[in-house]
Amino acid sequence: MTQSEVLDLFRASGALLEGHFRLTSGLHSPKYLQSALVLQHPEHATAIGEALAARARHLQPTAVLSPALGGIVVGQEVARAIGARALFAERQEGKLTLRRGFTLGPADRVLICEDVITTGGSTLETAAVAQAAGANVLGAAGIVDRGSDPGRLGLPLYTLVQMEVPSYQPDACPLCASGIPVVKPGSRA
Ligand SMILES: [Zn+2]
Repeated sequence: MTQSEVLDLFRASGALLEGHFRLTSGLHSPKYLQSALVLQHPEHATAIGEALAARARHLQPTAVLSPALGGIVVGQEVARAIGARALFAERQEGKLTLRRGFTLGPADRVLICEDVITTGGSTLETAAVAQAAGANVLGAAGIVDRGSDPGRLGLPLYTLVQMEVPSYQPDACPLCASGIPVVKPGSRA
């Protein structure tokens, strides 16, 4: 699956909007990305999972670990395609943790999987959960890499789409300056 094929799926599902948006952070952006809207279609989720699995399969992971909630669906599909377990870490009192009886150990080769990787902070936090359990973290996979430097995680990174999404403080937003009305994504759905 090429980057433009993935982006076509995103656009067709309303998962990638282009215009002038007020994000939940309060920042403004010309793009809005909501991967849950493409993953709500199981056939798209499977196709995306298979495409990511094709990039990361050579690592021979025994487990795919995703941060809840955003990474769960794609992690499940990647694990299905690879033939690995699919686990997720979730926040308990602010800290990512393995719950629900999920275990990882020194015999596990772990691929971290997310939907969208921005700074990579949550990816590394998820990797730390696996490492604390004694597992070997092999790399990270994500549908979209929003950063400009794939080396920033210090882990091999496998993604389908590389797309920097600029965001602006409202008082420094060039879209506001050109008089384009700002939209809160989801408010017109
Ligand atoms: Zn603006």
